[in-house]
Amino acid sequence: MKPICFLLLLSFSFPGVAQEKVFYNARIFTADPQKPFAEAIAINGKIITAVGNYNEVKKKVSAHAELVDLKGGFLMPGFVDSHNHGINGGRSLTKANLSDQLLTVNEIRTYAKEQLQKKDGMTGDVLVIYGLNIGTWKWIDELNQVFNSGAFETQPLVLRGSDGHTGWCNKAMQARAGIDKAFIASLKPEDKIFFGTTNEGESNGFVSESGYRKIASVLITETDFSKAAEKTMEYNNQYGITAFLDPTVTTLNKTRIDYTDWYHYLIKEGKLTAHIAATVVADANADPQTQINAVKALQKKYNTRNFSIIGFKVFADGVIEHPTHTAALSLPYTGTQSKGVLMFDPIKFARFATMADKANLLVHVHAIGDRAVTETLNGIEAARKANHNFNIPHSITHLQIVLPSDFKRFAALNVLASFQLLWAFGDETTIDIVKPYIDPSLYQWQYPARSMLQAGATICGASDWSVSSANPFEAIYHAETRKGPMGVLDSTQCMPRMAMLYAYTLEAAKVLMLEKKIGSLQTGKYADLILLDRDVLTVNPEAMQNTRVLWTLFEGKKVYEAGK
Ligand SMILES: [Zn+2]
Repeated sequence: MKPICFLLLLSFSFPGVAQEKVFYNARIFTADPQKPFAEAIAINGKIITAVGNYNEVKKKVSAHAELVDLKGGFLMPGFVDSHNHGINGGRSLTKANLSDQLLTVNEIRTYAKEQLQKKDGMTGDVLVIYGLNIGTWKWIDELNQVFNSGAFETQPLVLRGSDGHTGWCNKAMQARAGIDKAFIASLKPEDKIFFGTTNEGESNGFVSESGYRKIASVLITETDFSKAAEKTMEYNNQYGITAFLDPTVTTLNKTRIDYTDWYHYLIKEGKLTAHIAATVVADANADPQTQINAVKALQKKYNTRNFSIIGFKVFADGVIEHPTHTAALSLPYTGTQSKGVLMFDPIKFARFATMADKANLLVHVHAIGDRAVTETLNGIEAARKANHNFNIPHSITHLQIVLPSDFKRFAALNVLASFQLLWAFGDETTIDIVKPYIDPSLYQWQYPARSMLQAGATICGASDWSVSSANPFEAIYHAETRKGPMGVLDSTQCMPRMAMLYAYTLEAAKVLMLEKKIGSLQTGKYADLILLDRDVLTVNPEAMQNTRVLWTLFEGKKVYEAGK
């Protein structure tokens, strides 16, 4: 089926927020499992007041209600993202940023020249362009031709890969960072691999990992946090996201930037256009009570209607990809003795989870390897047994390798599965730099979302923005097809689309502990609605992936409109 064009719809207006409105003549997906579809929906100010067939809804509103004809459009609840780095992600939007689009070298030059003129995306006097698609690195020779002459002969320029691991810089920048032939010659072979070189041993400008850090060490980075905060809202609202969990809003040991005040800045300015739940980075090996007391104090200081600190973020392990290998596995990485790094002592984590749970604080755990997942479930099982309470919805995010023996434990322990299924497709990151390095019996269970769904797990949508795009349609596409440049990654794990729409609405709202207020279109919930440019339940996956949000309402107020 062809995407339907609803551009005409954009012309209606929303005169006042406090007004009653009835939206009708649309396909309305409610994400309410009891009644997934409706003909009409009424809102009054911030709140949904009726959902049902047109006549029923009409009867429940006053004679003054504005009738909004959606002309056959597709309406659904605003998306909920169960792991999104919020304002930390928004920082990247204050700088020149290509957001992973693949441009030709000439197009990059045009963009760079515009940025030089505008100046506001500069990093000090260096032009750093973030978010380069890593496909750009096949044109290193062209980059050298274009960016070492003319205006760029003396202008330092850095191109940063969207993967966060790679980059390229021109000669003016290499000189600034001290990367010359003598420096490269002085490197040990194990460090040399992070610098691209010509046959003559000169730098060709390409860098990765510690090579990029050499460049970053001479960059003066200042962030305009109010701008980053505002851009965070704009960015998420454009994809229809009206709520998210910020997992790393602050740390108790002050090793990361504290974003709580910046969310409060948005509240104060009337610019917070998403419901925010947040967790605080904790150390599960350290004393739980001190950390519980600290988070309780933060709750007292910061929790308000649309911003709530709900618990802790705990790291169970690192990442799986070669050459890092810090994800905790049950079997050694191929050809080594190492099973990766479990970042907590399981006994201490069990105690931490038990005490947090008892204090009504949830734990949201980063776990990538199967051993990290198992040990996290073990700790939460201990908490469930000790406290005889299953109410706090603890969650695990990432879940790259999960073994079948753990599938049923998610439902049994009420542990929610917060997946970034944008990553679940066949490309070098799931094949080339994983498959040769781990045991086939583990590799077989990469992002096993469908099996977990069948085992009763609550599958919740998440982006990990700004590590990846927050666009839910791209993630749903990969969840559904698992298709990538290197083929399909285990077709038995493809997710039904309907399950993904729930994953990004009602199910994700559970991770935020907000499922009674948001996540579905039901009477009494907040009027967070999005209108889409096509019927996402019937179009083919490729068309679904390109869905655009026409407008986003947050608490009844239009916070995004396409083309504006
Ligand atoms: Zn994250």
